[in-house]
Amino acid sequence: MELLKQRILEEGRAAEGGVLKVDSFLNHQMDISLLNAIGKEFSHRFAEEEITKLLTIEASGIGIAAITAQHFGNVPVVFAKKTKSRNLDGELYTAQVHSFTRGSTYEIQVSQKYLKPQDRVLIVDDFLAKGQALEGLLKIVGESGAKLIGCGIVIEKGFQDGGKRLREKGIRIESLAVVSDIAEDKVIFAE
Ligand code: 5GP
Repeated sequence: MELLKQRILEEGRAAEGGVLKVDSFLNHQMDISLLNAIGKEFSHRFAEEEITKLLTIEASGIGIAAITAQHFGNVPVVFAKKTKSRNLDGELYTAQVHSFTRGSTYEIQVSQKYLKPQDRVLIVDDFLAKGQALEGLLKIVGESGAKLIGCGIVIEKGFQDGGKRLREKGIRIESLAVVSDIAEDKVIFAE
């Protein structure tokens, strides 16, 4: 997606450990016009699919999914929570996620009320790196009995192995920008 790549080139910053910072338009301040274009692009890529629910993970996924949902007929957005909350009542689906950027493992949770076997789920997230966050969400979809349609990722870091590993399992992943390298603050795209 050219508009997105251009923005990454202009404003993306390399941080330690192969981390790409895009705080000015995606992870802290959010550019709503860009998010709208991202949502539209996801809807084109999954145009032939019936989607009944978007699933993401807090925090950065929420804004992306909420705007994307408007391009999928305002389907509900469910976001996995990273902290135990008293507001989360009833039975939960849970998964352990290891974050390499944070160097810690945490549990994600989704109420069983909001994912049902009849759902057709598109997972949406900001980054795909080693694939741990996606694997946690995939486990939850699997346990719910819902049908996974695919994953829409804003930025995939192709130099980490998550995308390759998950595609090898037959999961459809549509990434709008695939970064192949971040060398001396210069971002290089795969295609
Ligand atoms: P994974 O589980 O695929 O290794 O990482 C996915 C999660 O880690 C994303 O949801 C994102 O929050 C965070 N993450 C991984 N790599 C980066 C990065 O280079 N930049 C930013 N901003 N977040 C990242």
